[in-house]
Amino acid sequence: MAIDGVEKGKKVVVVGGGIAGGTIAKALQPHADVILIDPKEYLEIPWARLRSMVEPSFAERTLIKHSEYLPDATVITSHATNITAHEVLTADGQAFSYDYLVIATGHPGSNELSRKDRLQQFHKDYAKIKSSNSILIVGGGPTGVELAGEIAVDFPEKRVTIVHKGQRLLEFIGPKASKKTLNWLVSKKVEVILGQSVDWESLSEGGVYVTSGGEKISADSHFVCVGQPVGSSWLHGSILAQSLDKKGLLTVDENLRVKGHDNIFAIGDITDVPELKQGFLAQKHASVVAKNLTLLIKGTPVKKLATYTASPPIALVSLGRKEGVAQLPFGTISGCLPGKIKSKDLFVGKTRKGLGLSSQLA
Ligand SMILES: Cc1cc2nc3c(=O)[nH]c(=O)nc-3n(C[C@H](O)[C@H](O)[C@H](O)COP(=O)(O)OP(=O)(O)OC[C@H]3O[C@@H](n4cnc5c(N)ncnc54)[C@H](O)[C@@H]3O)c2cc1C
Repeated sequence: MAIDGVEKGKKVVVVGGGIAGGTIAKALQPHADVILIDPKEYLEIPWARLRSMVEPSFAERTLIKHSEYLPDATVITSHATNITAHEVLTADGQAFSYDYLVIATGHPGSNELSRKDRLQQFHKDYAKIKSSNSILIVGGGPTGVELAGEIAVDFPEKRVTIVHKGQRLLEFIGPKASKKTLNWLVSKKVEVILGQSVDWESLSEGGVYVTSGGEKISADSHFVCVGQPVGSSWLHGSILAQSLDKKGLLTVDENLRVKGHDNIFAIGDITDVPELKQGFLAQKHASVVAKNLTLLIKGTPVKKLATYTASPPIALVSLGRKEGVAQLPFGTISGCLPGKIKSKDLFVGKTRKGLGLSSQLA
C-alpha cells in the first residue's frame, strides 16, 4: 500500500525493544516492513519499576506487549547475536535481511521474558519489602535512591539503609542535587553510608552484611541497585566491533548513523552522544532517525538528513509519590514542584500515549 507516496517494501530491522527501539518501530511501521528483535515479549517503562515494587498493580500499565503497539510490524522474541553486512542473526537460529538497521540495545534488560513473569516478579519484590522490617539497598544511583524513596514514603516504619561506593549519591548529576537528595532521605530516616561497598560474599538474603569499611549492617533483606552494563557485548564479533568505543558505546555521526556504515543507525543509551543517558532523549533520537529513514526510503539525498544535537544535562529523580529533585540547565530544584512533574504518574500515561495507546488501561 502507498502511504505519502511511499511503497512499503524496504526492510528496517530494529534491534532492542526498549524506549528507543519501541518508539522508532512504532513510528516506522506505516513506512517500511519493520522487524523488531527483543528477547522480551514486552516493552518496560524502566523508570516506573521502583513504584511497581511497592505497588505491583502499577506495573499493569508499564509493561506493554510489543504486539499491542506494533500491529503492523513483525516482532521476533529472541536475542540478536550477530550482524553481517546484510543480515541480523538471532539466538533462535534465524537470520533477518535488512535494507536499514537500527541498534537500540541500551542495556541487557530484565531476566523475565514474558510479561506475566515480570508482573509476578513485582509481586515477589512487594512481598519481600512487606515482610522485612529492615532493608539494605546496595547502590545510591537513580535506581537505589528512587527505591529508597518509594519504601520510605509507603512504609515509613521500615528501617532502610543505602550503601553507596561513591562519595555522593546520584553522581550522574550535580553535587547540589546529591546534597538535596541526601537531606531528603535523612529526613525520612533512611541511613546513607557513602564511600563503601558491600562485600558480595555477605550478600545472602537477610542477616548481617559487611561493608568494605568493616561496618556491619543487619537487615532482613536487600536489593542490589547497581547500574546495568551497556547492551553491546553481542556486537564484539560483528561488523560493528570497530565502531564501539572504550565504554562499549556505538560511535555515531550527527545523523545518528553508526560511523562508517551508511545504512546502520544507533539510538538511545547505546550511543556515544555526549549527554546524560535519559529515556526522553532516547525518544528524541528515535524521532530523528525515524525521520531520516523515511527520507532515505523516499530517495532523499543524504545531505538533507535531519541532525541531532546533544542535550544539556536535564534529569528528574523522584523521591516517593509527591516529591523529587530536578537538575535543570539553570539550577537544581527539589520538593513538590519536580514531584508534580514526575512522581505521581512517572510519565507512564505520557509514554503510553507516545506509543499510540491510551494512558489508562481499557
Ligand atoms: C531508576 C531510573 C530512573 C530513570 N528515570 C528517568 C526519567 O525520569 N526520565 C528519563 O527520560 N529517563 C530516565 N531513566 C533513563 C532511561 O530509563 C533510559 O535512558 C532509557 O531506558 C534508555 O532507553 P533505550 O531504549 O536506549 O535502552 P533500554 O531501555 O535499556 O532498552 C534496551 C532494550 O534492548 C534489548 N536488548 C538488549 N540486548 C539485546 C540483544 N542482544 N538483542 C535484542 N535485544 C536486546 C533489551 O531487552 C531492552 O528491551 C531512568 C533510568 C533509571 C534506571
